[in-house]
Formats: sequence, C-alpha cells, structure tokens
Amino acid sequence: MTGILNRNLDESSLSTETAENFLQLVAQKIPGFDDSVLDIITRSKREIIVEIPIRLDNGGVSVFRGYRVQHNNSRGGPFKGGIRYHQEVNLAEVRGLANLMTWKAALVKIPFGGAKGGIACDPKKLSRTEIERLTRAYTEHLGDNIGPYYDVPAPDVNTNAQIMAWIFDEYAKSHNNCSLAVVTGKPLEIGGSEGREEATGRGVVIVTTELLKDLKLHAAQQRVIIQGFGNVGSHAARIFYEEIGAKVIGISNVEGAVFNKNGLNVTDLFKYQAEKGSIKGFPDSEWMTNEEMLIQECDILIPAALAGSINEEVAYKTTAKIVVEAANAPITTEGDKILNERGVHVIPGILANPGGVIVSYFEWVQNLQQLYWTREEVILRLEKILNDAYKRTYAASVENKCSLREAAMRLALIEVTKSIKLRGC
Ligand code: NAD
Repeated sequence: MTGILNRNLDESSLSTETAENFLQLVAQKIPGFDDSVLDIITRSKREIIVEIPIRLDNGGVSVFRGYRVQHNNSRGGPFKGGIRYHQEVNLAEVRGLANLMTWKAALVKIPFGGAKGGIACDPKKLSRTEIERLTRAYTEHLGDNIGPYYDVPAPDVNTNAQIMAWIFDEYAKSHNNCSLAVVTGKPLEIGGSEGREEATGRGVVIVTTELLKDLKLHAAQQRVIIQGFGNVGSHAARIFYEEIGAKVIGISNVEGAVFNKNGLNVTDLFKYQAEKGSIKGFPDSEWMTNEEMLIQECDILIPAALAGSINEEVAYKTTAKIVVEAANAPITTEGDKILNERGVHVIPGILANPGGVIVSYFEWVQNLQQLYWTREEVILRLEKILNDAYKRTYAASVENKCSLREAAMRLALIEVTKSIKLRGC
C-alpha cells in the first residue's frame, strides 16, 4: 500500500500535469472561455530558489534550499501563502501549493494572489536556535520579494507563530520598516489576530456542517475520522467534539492513530498530548497505524496531514459519505476518481481549508488599520465568507451537474479570468 509515508508527488493532485489537465477540463466547459488565459494561469509569475547557509550549534555549517513561488496576482492585492519546513519540500510541491492558493483566494473572494514558500529541512533535527537562524537567513535571502503590499507569508506545516515573529523582526530590521502586515499568523502580542490559530480547523467544520445540512444529515450523529493532530486537525477535532457534538472516533499523527468506535474524548486528548508529548497510550483507545485508521468504518473522513494519503485503496475501502480535504491535495488523482464513482461527496481543499487564509486576511487588515477585532467578530466574519463560498459552490455543482471540486474550480477560474480581462494583461 502506498501510504502517506511513501507519498509520491506525481500521484497526488499536486502534480503540475494533473492540475493543468483539470484546469483545461473545467475551462472547456465554461461557455466562451478564452484559451489564451490558460497560458497565463498555468505558469507562475515568479519562482525563487535560495541557498541558505547557516551556522549549526556544533560550529559546523549547513546549506539549506529555500523556495518562494508567486503564482498569480491578477486579482490585485499582495501574494499570500504559507511557509513549510519539511524534508520533502521541493519546487514542484511549492509550485502546486502556490497554485492552490490562487484558486482558494479567488473562490472565497479575498484580495490576494497565490504564493507558497518552504525550506527543505527536517525541523526535528534542528535546535530552536538553528531554526531561528534558518528563518532569519531565509527572510534575508528573500529580500524585497516579500512585503506588506507585495507578498505576505504565513505558517504552514511545521511553522508557527514564533517563526512568523522572527520573520517580522528580520524584515523590520533589514527594511527599516516595522509594518506588522508583512506576515500573518503572528503571536497575539505582536499583531496576531484573535481566532487565527483555530481558523483553518474551524473553517473545515463550518463547510462540512453546511454540506450535511444540504444532505439532510444530522451533524451530531456523524462518526468522524481525522488524519493529523496538528494545527488544522486538532482544532477541527475539538470543534466537532465540543461544539457540534459529533463522535470523533479516530485521530492520528505521524506516529500512528488512536481509535475508539464509540468516540474519543477530544478535550482530554488535548490535555494528554500536552502532558505526554504524544497521543499514543491515550486511555480507552486502540493504537493503530495511519493506514489502518483511514479505512475504519466512519461517516466523515478528514485528511488533515500531508498530500496523497487518500489513495486508491483508501478510496475503495472507506465507508465515509463525505471526505473533506482539510490538508492541501490529500487525495490522489486515482483516489478522487474512485470516490466520485462511488458517490462519495468530496469537499475540495480550496473550499474546505481557506479558513486560515481568510483570518490571515483579517489579520492583515487589522494590522494596516491598527484596529483590532474580538474573537467573536472574527468568527462571525469567517462564517459569513465561508458560508457564502459554500452556497455558491453547491449551487454551481447542482446547476452544472458536477462535483464540488469542479464547481469550486469553475467559480475560481471565472473570477481570475475576469480580472485578467479587466486589467488587459
Ligand atoms: P501541522 O504541522 O501543524 O500538523 C501536521 C499533522 O500531520 C501533525 O499531527 C503530524 O504529526 C501529522 N503528520 C505529519 N506527517 C504525517 C504522516 N506521514 N502521516 C500521518 N500524519 C502525519 O500542519 P497543519 O498546519 O495542521 O497543516 C496540515 C495540512 O493542512 C497541510 O497540508 C497544510 O498545507 C494544510 N493547511 C494548513 C493551513 C493552516 O492554516 N495551518 C491552512 C490550509 C491548509
């Protein structure tokens, strides 16, 4: 079985060829679509590679490769996208993720272009001071390629509010510009937004519960399996459990999964993880591999870790009625085909996981205005934007008799194409 641990990017929906084929397919079905636009949107506006030498704690030197891809900003506003620290980061992956950011921002109608960044490194093998030096050096190497009105990074896999604080500080020093709006996902003490940390997980729950309403299913009666107990997965699990009352029966991280078919106490799992530094050994749960957990009987399956984990085998075996792409590109092309054939509803990533970029947008607006909102205000505004995007996507899928993935891409593509035409590129 090709599990997430052996993921192959060519298999996942992040592959450039797959993404281009899908774009073409969607474009062909839009009456009067101008094919020349495809030439623009299938290329990145800018792709930056930086070689970053840093001094290690043992006195030696190591050189790390960093990336920033700015895909498309036809709709105006700065580029926007997270920064990922992972040993498998490479140009093709960052390019694919930057692409997704363009469509995500267009679908939810926030004024950002799509970008993504990353450093190929294993953060578990680096000390805190080495990660700080690497982050500062990466910021310095990017130079003027980031900025409050040009390109605004944010956290992604293995990066967090502390790392965003270092980026802000390094940029402020090197540019003599203390604008907090240069990066989002910062700590609350230095311009972060209320509700940012939980935003992506909360967005996943908002969109999933909207679909459940349309399918006339009771949210509180659903059995949910979530792969990933990081930023996105943990908040989605907590909100499903504490606010919706759904049964969260399986949760995993890179080590493995905790499972209980009668439901896990997610509030206690948070405390257990904080105390023990692991979810393994959680009382009243069975320990299993990620691969085993993904095919357990459930109603909703939420991959919230890395790309490519929902492959053909999982797609055949899952009993889920709904699969929600909380992670970016967690379903392989083959897996997606099988889920569609089996009539499983797939909420695509560009609709399911923009909660983070939406609240990043709120953070950016608050930083520029120097006026801060309460958590309640942030959540209300987040719900409004996501509910609107969901309703438009669902309506487009009914009208065009297509999947939510195709409907979401259709709406995003129309939005970006209109901007290109209006600007006269
Ligand atoms: P994170 O680093 O906080 O958490 C990742 C989780 O996945 C951890 O629990 C980790 O143990 C687990 N994991 C890592 N490798 C795994 C493996 N091989 N098998 C099983 N589990 C594994 O990351 P995150 O911010 O929660 O992001 C998760 C996904 O969501 C990524 O695809 C990211 O691009 C996407 N995403 C994140 C945000 C955000 O705001 N953080 C927004 C949109 C999309």
